[in-house]
Amino acid sequence: MKKVALVTGASRGIGRATAARLAKAGYAVGVNYYERQDKADELVSALTAAGCEAIAVQADVADRAAVDAMVRRVTDVFGPVTLLVNNAGVAGQALFQDITDELWNRYFAVNLNGMRHTIQAVLPSMIHEKSGCIVNISSIWGQHGASCEVTYSCTKHAIIGLTRSLAMELAPSGILVNCVAPGVIDTDMVQVLGQDTLRDLAAQTPLGRLGTPEDIAAAVAFLASDDASFITGQVLTSDGGFIG
Ligand code: NAP
Repeated sequence: MKKVALVTGASRGIGRATAARLAKAGYAVGVNYYERQDKADELVSALTAAGCEAIAVQADVADRAAVDAMVRRVTDVFGPVTLLVNNAGVAGQALFQDITDELWNRYFAVNLNGMRHTIQAVLPSMIHEKSGCIVNISSIWGQHGASCEVTYSCTKHAIIGLTRSLAMELAPSGILVNCVAPGVIDTDMVQVLGQDTLRDLAAQTPLGRLGTPEDIAAAVAFLASDDASFITGQVLTSDGGFIG
């Protein structure tokens, strides 16, 4: 069966590096974006020029109808999705008392409901084929608490619960469900912290640097590879030793 990957939030950062890595490993890749069509198109052009197969597909993962349309488009062009990487996410800092309903609901809509939408959209074909691989991107803040990031941390803890439970449910169907928990990765998402804080975080990391999007792409590629065919329901932390 043709190897077809859908990577959500692939216009930038971790998703972009993951889409590129998978395309170079022989996957036809659906490059999902939300607002940055220019970035997604640029990646698709570069991958296509390198002889890879990729298309850009717009969807707000919080919108089930948009996700269903995105999965239909990828399936029409390449065939059924065999690898789903749930990477799209939003983050930000707020004191607990300042968390509005709007912020709380949006973080859950994107980070958690988004995964439910994409998984439910790809599962019928995976169950039919009795094979498939789902990799969800959580965070070290889904394994530990994070001050001023209660909402984000809650969504990332929930992703680990989703992963572990769904792995049990889908194992009899031959479908693997795993999680990657990145540490501090040098992407647009963390720039809001400022260069001084990022330098401090690098210094606090036992390996002495921030992670790169490619570090996380490598962890995803491992979980998607034949070498990981007996691994399901696991959380692979890639954080340079940050949480010990
Ligand atoms: P990023 O640089 O901010 O990029 C976010 C990506 O998600 C973009 O491609 C963006 O698309 C997409 N996105 C945002 N909202 C979306 C929506 N509603 N529907 C579809 N796509 C949406 O983030 P990143 O650092 O690469 O993070 C990627 C994932 O890793 C997230 O789940 C994040 O929580 C997790 N993570 C990151 C770190 C870190 O330190 N960077 C650490 C742990 C976990 P557009 O550009 O088109 O808007």
